Amino acid sequence: MGKERKTIGVLTSGGDAPGMNAAVRAVVRMGINRGFSVVGIRRGYSGLLANDMDDMDLRSVSDILQRGGTVLYSSRCPEFSEQRNIKKAVENCRKAGIDALVTIGGDGTFRGALDLCREGLPCIGLPGTIDNDISSSEYTIGFDTAVNTVVQMVDRVRDTSQSHDRCSVIEVMGRHAGHIALYAGIACGALAVLVPEIEFTIERDVVAKMVSSLRQGKQNFIVMVAEGVGHAPAIAEQIESLTGIDTNAVVLGYVQRGGSPTARERVIASQMGHHAVELIEQGIGKRVVVFRGGKVVDLDIEEALAMHKGIDMDLYRVANDISI
Ligand code: ADP
Repeated sequence: MGKERKTIGVLTSGGDAPGMNAAVRAVVRMGINRGFSVVGIRRGYSGLLANDMDDMDLRSVSDILQRGGTVLYSSRCPEFSEQRNIKKAVENCRKAGIDALVTIGGDGTFRGALDLCREGLPCIGLPGTIDNDISSSEYTIGFDTAVNTVVQMVDRVRDTSQSHDRCSVIEVMGRHAGHIALYAGIACGALAVLVPEIEFTIERDVVAKMVSSLRQGKQNFIVMVAEGVGHAPAIAEQIESLTGIDTNAVVLGYVQRGGSPTARERVIASQMGHHAVELIEQGIGKRVVVFRGGKVVDLDIEEALAMHKGIDMDLYRVANDISI
């Protein structure tokens, strides 16, 4: 027996990212606009297993568009890869009257959503992670804000590096993906960008460039490294011992995860949340909403998870060709 008003559940999972709130707000507002009830599930898949959820209304998402983090909280839930827990989650949704679920997170979150779909719960995934490391999407919610935060921080570091003729090695987030390092490296005028996707040597890709730049009169340097390639203090020590130039290390860490989302972030997250509800309205599940070719589109989850995304080699060339 179908009930008259259908219910959408929404959750945020994995690492938090600025803009997740904008996406949640869009799902809630658009859902209610189209006649759905909306339930917010706290702490990602952990909350789904623990029945930690509440009804949301238009007012419960007031004043969150501009806030970083996620008002729904997030978690990593390793036990969600066990089949019995997937079944339990679907059963909990059934009991709570949830007919479809919007899950906001990374590729792992999409895998969880796929498992739920296979057990009969239609899910729509939205890409949320600062690292931009979701294979199916050219852009992920959180990335633009994280890059802008890095740029603001590095501009400050550069002021002091310039005053002391120093080299500063900046370590940014990205264990397996160098997108933040690459974008921020270009935006900050880094001498070199070191990312896990591309082989490098300190001698060839940093020191030789520094020596040539010194000959041309440059006296302060920014070297941008993704955390996946090694730790900034060790790299700084190596550069200093090879060049004799005073070199410090700045590890930016968790500041990159917080802060008010940029306008671009808020707009794309809103579009994605809106699109997710449109799919559910049409009875479509097992999709992810992604950004491809400058547009918000949707793909089958399995197809999306099978995709691969490397670093943007055109951008990498730009970074190298215009740094001296
Ligand atoms: P992050 O990269 O920030 O850890 P992910 O979106 O990759 O975020 O993962 C978030 C959560 O998704 C995990 O903590 C886990 O609960 C769930 N997840 C990850 N992999 C799987 C999987 N293979 N099957 C089911 N759920 C998964």
